[in-house]
Amino acid sequence: MSEPFAVALRFSTAVAVFLALAAWEARRPRRRDGPPRRRRWPANLGLAAVDIGLLRLLPWLAPLAAAEWAAAHGWGVLPWLGVGGPAAALLTLVALDGALWLQHRALHAWAPLWRLHQVHHADPALDVSSGLRFHPLEILLSAAYKSGWVLVLGAGPAVVLLFEALLNLASLFTHANVVLPPRCDRRLRRLLVTPDMHRIHHSQRPDETDSNFGFFLSVWDRLFGTYRARARRLQSRIAIGLARWPDQRQNSALLALLAMPWRAPGRDRGRLL
Ligand SMILES: [Zn+2]
Repeated sequence: MSEPFAVALRFSTAVAVFLALAAWEARRPRRRDGPPRRRRWPANLGLAAVDIGLLRLLPWLAPLAAAEWAAAHGWGVLPWLGVGGPAAALLTLVALDGALWLQHRALHAWAPLWRLHQVHHADPALDVSSGLRFHPLEILLSAAYKSGWVLVLGAGPAVVLLFEALLNLASLFTHANVVLPPRCDRRLRRLLVTPDMHRIHHSQRPDETDSNFGFFLSVWDRLFGTYRARARRLQSRIAIGLARWPDQRQNSALLALLAMPWRAPGRDRGRLL
């Protein structure tokens, strides 16, 4: 498969999954409260467009470029150990997912990174568009971080493309305003992150925000003691977002979201931190 074709396939799959989840949300939403789509989607989708545009401008930063360089130079732990084929692919997928869990913990734990990541958490409602709402600096840092891991591992380009595609789709799914049948949710959670599990991470309660950091596999949270099966409130009543960013104008305009890491909320509006 040629690279442009693979990239086009990844993009069109993401669009198709976005539309399918959006239709599911419209038909059977998990929650009906919160600001309507028309107030949140322009900024959330605008951020996604900025992120995609920036990554197109800086292709050398992308994990795919790192994988191609590693493959061309025989670089990385997996080739050095002689691990190839399906075993290398599986190890790469699991290791990169674990690396992202660690990155997510750092985004919450370290104040300068939290300033960027709060843009994602300040969304006052959760739906499929929240899965695209990330500050461009967080996206660039994450691309560099993932590229570093790809170089260390010596991950192959095809597996990296697959991981990036899975990551996008998992982000859309886990933020979606949908509910799975309880038994299905329970079974799926043994291995994967579900929307109900990730919604707890978007609670305004700090102890709930600092749980369920996983993107795709649920195993990391179980392994490191950050798994939370239930929120204190019912799923339909979890207060979503960040209490410090209640102002609609500050929290729903594209330029305001781009500036959010350097601005003070609420009555301090307009003042730089
Ligand atoms: Zn988070």
